[in-house]
Amino acid sequence: MTLVDLERLFDTDEKCRELLVRLRWPNGVECTRCHGMATELETEKQLFYCKDCNYQFSVTAGTIFNDSHLPLRTWFTVTLLLCEARKGISANQIKRTLGVSYKTAWYLCHRIRAAMKEADRPMLNGTVEVDETFVGGKKIGYGVKAAKAEKEVVIGIRQRGGDLRLFHAQDVTSGTLAKYIKENISADVDVIVTDELPAYPKAMIGAGIHGSKHETIRHKDRVYVQGNVHTNTVESAFSLLKRGIVGTWHRISAKHLAAYLDEMQFRFNRRKRADLFLDTLRHMVTAPVLTFEKLTA
Ligand SMILES: [Zn+2]
Repeated sequence: MTLVDLERLFDTDEKCRELLVRLRWPNGVECTRCHGMATELETEKQLFYCKDCNYQFSVTAGTIFNDSHLPLRTWFTVTLLLCEARKGISANQIKRTLGVSYKTAWYLCHRIRAAMKEADRPMLNGTVEVDETFVGGKKIGYGVKAAKAEKEVVIGIRQRGGDLRLFHAQDVTSGTLAKYIKENISADVDVIVTDELPAYPKAMIGAGIHGSKHETIRHKDRVYVQGNVHTNTVESAFSLLKRGIVGTWHRISAKHLAAYLDEMQFRFNRRKRADLFLDTLRHMVTAPVLTFEKLTA
């Protein structure tokens, strides 16, 4: 899907709405209150009516689109821009491209991002790399320790040839690492590769992973690849993330970091899929409401 395709296929809000209806209710329109079958009103094409409970609703009610006064075509355009931007796109860029206010652009991006949160996360298997990185903060150049103290921790877990997971973590203690390993990696994993951070061996024990399944790469000795023992695939995802933070979002607040990580992960895991745009819209029309108050609380 390109912007040109979008202009051609979805040139009216009615066409956008028809697509959302098919994505939200692939088996026919269902009442959002009682789940009975509903029909479109003859008089008001934008509304559906449920005979069983006498309820009227629209396709966007109770979703990420809820209460938006923007045309659906604008939503579709921003969604496509967000899908296509491998390193992310800033609210300022959306503001300039679409000629909307910064606040509108910011809220729009955050709502689409919220829908990009992945609900089901199957356990990772095979060869899995776990790595940690530090983002944000201002104190670069005051020594590694001072810099790290000011920064936010991101834990990356990636199955080789498979999915990526990114988390905004509290710290990199063995307890924290164990929690993320246990929640995301199958106990039947073949091997987990990490760097030489001393917290990892204890984290493996905490996560119930046998020590023989843990391989360590010693970056300190400038060894980055030792046969199959490397963390290069998770590091390539980190570098994309960092370029996104530096180049696109500039400084993102700690509060919204998890949401940006969700966006990055969602797009990364679907980068080879032709239906990325449709899948994003499907998530948007099934994700719950995100109010401005909640976002800025
Ligand atoms: Zn009903």
